[in-house]
Amino acid sequence: MAHIFLASPHMSDEGYEKEYIKEAFDTNWIAPLGKNVNEFEKEMKEYLGCQSAVALSAGTAAIHLALKSIGIKQGDIVFCQSLTFSASANPITYEKAIPVFIDSDKDNWNMSPEALKKAFEVYKDNLPKAVIVVHLYGMSAKIDEIKNICQEYNVPLIEDAAESLGTIYKGQYTGTFGDYGIISFNGNKIITSSGGGMILVNAENAEEKAKKILYWSTQARDAARHYQHTEIGYNYRMSNIVAGIGRGQLKVLNQRIEQKRAIYSYYKEAFKDIDDIEMMPLSDDERSNCWLSSIQLKPDSKVKPLDIMVALEENDIESRPIWKPMHLQPVFHDCDFITTAEDVTISNEEIGSDTSYSGQLFEHGVCLPSDTKMTMDDLERITTIIKGLWK
Ligand SMILES: *Cc1c(COP(=O)(O)O)cnc(C)c1O
Repeated sequence: MAHIFLASPHMSDEGYEKEYIKEAFDTNWIAPLGKNVNEFEKEMKEYLGCQSAVALSAGTAAIHLALKSIGIKQGDIVFCQSLTFSASANPITYEKAIPVFIDSDKDNWNMSPEALKKAFEVYKDNLPKAVIVVHLYGMSAKIDEIKNICQEYNVPLIEDAAESLGTIYKGQYTGTFGDYGIISFNGNKIITSSGGGMILVNAENAEEKAKKILYWSTQARDAARHYQHTEIGYNYRMSNIVAGIGRGQLKVLNQRIEQKRAIYSYYKEAFKDIDDIEMMPLSDDERSNCWLSSIQLKPDSKVKPLDIMVALEENDIESRPIWKPMHLQPVFHDCDFITTAEDVTISNEEIGSDTSYSGQLFEHGVCLPSDTKMTMDDLERITTIIKGLWK
């Protein structure tokens, strides 16, 4: 039987991506720029309804340039969601700023508004210069509450929407709430350009800020015939070929969202009689893109996440743990962490002793296969294997 991926690239049946690439070949706009890059930005702005967008080489580069745009410098504090992929936090250290990690909401998985409020209290004499919130697995954070808290303290908000492209919260796309939004087109994201990212700018003077970001992303060349530089630049721009793939993929984004949502619904229905399994919680306020269908097992479940992952692996099916929180990562072990959790101490070999909601989510969670190329038979195979563990 064929290998089942967690999430793999899924090009359009119509071959849109190839058409855009072919056009780039035919006009020799392989590099440096060309029509696809500008059109991709324009089409994404129209899709999401945001002011400015700059296409970059990666989502990580987009977070880095958002921090640059805010003016983050050495020694500045940046609050960042703890439960996330390391790429949300790494760029803070590129600028020698100091990450302070914030715990998750116990029923939403993303940044806890209560913990964020507490962090602002704790750091009231040394306020952060930015806050980074993430919409994990396509599930929207409580972004309106988070945004209000940031506005109260007049601190810019960066929204890491790398996993949530197309998720709508209270009628608005994730990535367009914060002063800056970040999306990723990495290989396993809901749409992929083979690799790439985009920064969305919604802050005041968005156009001007986007121009500066574009300047940094193309080696900070001043307007002069010779090569003149007054600032340090980066080689972060998206190529015209990559943008061509992205444009083709954007045409099927809505279709992919429907497929991902159907996968989530299938799992939800299949596991409805297993009390130990809770699907990742989606609120009535959102239309999630359901990028990765993830579950939590009750702490006293006899079946553990590892049992599920191993049983699937034996059948050549890929799954993976929930992100290991940043405050539990060796590389960030000196960083401060703010939580409001008190009653959820966990202790195991992997993480030692910890009192946090994010640690608990890591301990009890699994990301299930969410590949849009899966068939009904594949989904039945997966759920039969998992349900069999409770027999
Ligand atoms: C994928 C991802 C990124 C990084 O995007 P790249 O395009 O791979 O650099 C950042 N944050 C989160 C939450 C991600 O999942």
